[in-house]
Parts: sequence; structure tokens; C-alpha cells
Amino acid sequence: MKFGGTSVGDPPAIRRAGELVSQAAREGPVVTVVSAMSGVTNSLVAAMRRAEAGDEAAPGELAAALARTHSSAIEVLIPDEARRAKLLAEAKELIAQAEHWCRGVALLKELTPRAVDAISGIGERLSVRVFAATLGEAGVAAAAVEATELIVTDNAHMQALPLMDQTRQKTRERLLPMLERGGVPVVTGFIGATSEGVPTTLGRGGSDFTATILGACLDAEKVIIWTDVDGVLTADPRLVPDAAFLPAVSYNEAAELAHYGAKVLHSKTLRPVAPRGIPVWIRNSFAPEKPGTRIGPAGPSAPRGVRAITAIRDVSLVNIGGPGIVGIPDLAAKTFAATAGVGANLLLITQSSAQNDMCFVVQTSDTAHAVAAVRKALAYDLRHHDLEHITVNPGIAIVAVVGEQMRGTVGVAGRVFSILASEGINIIAIAQGSSENNISFVVEEAAVQKAVTAIHRDLGLAKLGPAAKVQDPGAQTKGEA
Ligand code: ASP
Ligand code: MG
Repeated sequence: MKFGGTSVGDPPAIRRAGELVSQAAREGPVVTVVSAMSGVTNSLVAAMRRAEAGDEAAPGELAAALARTHSSAIEVLIPDEARRAKLLAEAKELIAQAEHWCRGVALLKELTPRAVDAISGIGERLSVRVFAATLGEAGVAAAAVEATELIVTDNAHMQALPLMDQTRQKTRERLLPMLERGGVPVVTGFIGATSEGVPTTLGRGGSDFTATILGACLDAEKVIIWTDVDGVLTADPRLVPDAAFLPAVSYNEAAELAHYGAKVLHSKTLRPVAPRGIPVWIRNSFAPEKPGTRIGPAGPSAPRGVRAITAIRDVSLVNIGGPGIVGIPDLAAKTFAATAGVGANLLLITQSSAQNDMCFVVQTSDTAHAVAAVRKALAYDLRHHDLEHITVNPGIAIVAVVGEQMRGTVGVAGRVFSILASEGINIIAIAQGSSENNISFVVEEAAVQKAVTAIHRDLGLAKLGPAAKVQDPGAQTKGEA
């Protein structure tokens, strides 16, 4: 069971989460993965950025804020005096460490990826202790475990990947004996360590990934992601108020939705479990009576056609063109080597067959880096006018329609595009991978709401599930960071 930031965001939420764990622990072995309390990772990141800019007040302010959040939770949750004193001392030490490291950053005015990972993992190291002690108060034999002891990663700081063989061995050695004794391990989400023991993180929102890594290593029966939404919906309820709840989606559908902006899951979450067929449930810890969405292998009776629509904003379209680009055989190789070199995440790529135009979409925050790198890589071709322009259009968004069974269903694209035509919405670029799980297209940002609403309505998606109306309009994007 993994609990996201809002699910452990304050003492009542932590208590509720604790009850869910105690209940489950009575029925069978449970491993718990916990995120930082909501807002904590953001405040760690904000403080280190300020420190990097030389702001010497940042470390102290960070420490005060962390102490406020955690000490007040501890006071409320842990009446047992000995347990409370021990916990307060541990929290104090971790907070002092965060402050100390941040001071180092402020002194050097330099923030390395390695320091980012060490500092940003403090939130989880605090929250597991609070959570384990809360379970202890409820009579559950829980123990906080740091994932640096379990998850061995590569050294790609801020987006590390697990080395699964070593991770499996360590995880089983450490956790199975605890489980056999009836204990409940409470493991830090988000963090890991290289084989040399250097702390790493799995990327923002990475606690979901922690849960499925551990689930796979322990051959779990299932992984439950407890969060603050009822499950996966047919669309973002902020765009589409009558978005319907989806009781089940396939791994592929969930992965497409995660990629395209429906931030229910960290994008790598399903990788460890999908090959093993371990189901992942998205459930609401504030409404545990609701069934949640089951993510699993696609069944033969899975519904056909489009299942969900998602939109991604804050992206820019980069266009590379000119009549001479037909003659530049390595254009794509040069372009994408350049974007990869600066670590830009490409969300969509198209090239027309006439080859006088190629475009890709990147996150707005990556755009300047990506474009500068591409210009440099193509400098020769630009000088010789084989290439006429590299332009950037920041005013666009991607809309993606997702459904496993679109494969081999004739007419999906036709319907989607005629809906857009009848709304008078211009399509700037189109992409469909041959897996046919997803058709995505680029529209003017101003047309996103209209596009998503019209497709959702005209394809009848609101009628799909028992329309679980969302109480919280902020829902589909979790508010956990
Ligand atoms: N606390 C980390 C973050 O905010 C990891 C997570 O919540 O999943 O990104
Ligand atoms: Mg989070």
C-alpha cells in the first residue's frame, strides 16, 4: 500500500491511512510506502533553489517550516511519551541535516544533482517515522525502513532507475523476515541509492514507482496506490465536469494517461508490475468505501474504442522546415541527439512524408534548452539554407484520446477529427503510434477545453461508468507535492 502526500498530509489523514493499514495487516502481510507530507518536497526544493541563489535565510526558514509541520503532527498523533520523545529527537536530527546541507548549497552557491537528491529525500525520511510510530500507537508492529537499503539504482540523479536484480535481492532479504514475524515495514517512497550507497531519487512523484518496484520484488498479490481521487476518470474533471469514473483500465491505457498529463500515476509506475501481471489499484484514502480503479492486463472483454481523453498544456511546438530538408538525411538523428543531449522530454513527434517539415513538442520548461541545442546541431544546414527555419509556437496544447481497443477499431480517428471539424477547431499536427493505444494531436491552447469537451460528449464517454461525480474539482491532478 502506498500513501501519497495528501493521504498523509495532516494528523487526521495520517490516522485514516493508519487505520487502512491496520485493517489490511489483520488479513495478511502488508508493506507500506509513504510519500512526504503534502507540500514538504516542494518546500525542500524551493529552499535549495533559494540557497543556490545565495539566499542565506533559506536554510533556517526551511528548518523552521519542517519542524512546524512534523512536530505538530507528532504532538497530536503520538500520546505515548517515550515514543514521542524518541520520534521528536529523530525528526530534529533529520531537519538539522536538511538545514546543514542547504547551508552548504548557500555557501557554495552551487546545487549539484547529487545534493538535490540528498536534500529532497528528507521529506520521506521524516514521514515514514511519523507513520510507523502512528501505527505503533494503534498496536501494529510497524518499523520505518529507508529505501536506500532496498532500492539499488543507477546514478541518474533526479530520475534514477532501479537495478531490479540487486533490488529484488536486497528487498527480500530485508523485508521478508519482517513480514514473517507479522511486522509492517513502512518504507520511504521516492528515494533509493546507487550500489555505492549514494542517495538518489526516482523523479518527482516517484513514490508510486517505489510501491510497484517493491511489489514486483516481493511478488505481491496487488499494489494499492492510496491517493485523494476516486480513481482514473475519462477526462480531467476541471475540463469536463461530467467526466466518468473508470472501474478498470489496462496497463497500456494507464501508461498513456500518465504520459499525457493525467497525473494519477508517475509515468514509470507500471513498468515493474505489468510484465508480472500484478494489478495496481488507485483508491481514495478519504473515501475507502469506493472501489477504486483496477489497472491490469487488458482482458478480452475490455470495452472497445476511446476510453479517456487527456490534455497536456505548458508545452511548445518546435517546427523545423525548409524545402531543402529532403536532402539532409541525418536531420532527425541530429535533431533528436541534440534534444536528448539536454535531457528534453519529447511528448510528440511528426514528420510529413513530403519531408519539408518536421516538428516535435516539448515541455515549455525544456524549450529554450532544446531549441538552442538543435540550432547548434543544425548550424551547418541553416547556414547553407537547406534548412530555412526553426520556429517555436508556445501557444499550443496536446490532446490525446486513449484506448487499448482502438487497435483495429476502424473509424476512431475519423470520428474524432470530424468532431473537431464541426467545432471549427484547427488541428496543427497529428501523431498515432503503431501500437494504436493513443491518437494525439496538437491544437491551439485556446481550443483545448472545447476540443476535450466536444470529444468527450460526442463519443458518449460520460455514460461509460457509474458517473462517480467528483466532489473535489481539483481532482484528477493530485495535490500531493
Ligand atoms: N514526495 C515526492 C514528490 O513530491 C515523491 C512523491 O510524492 O511521490 O515528488
Ligand atoms: Mg508527491
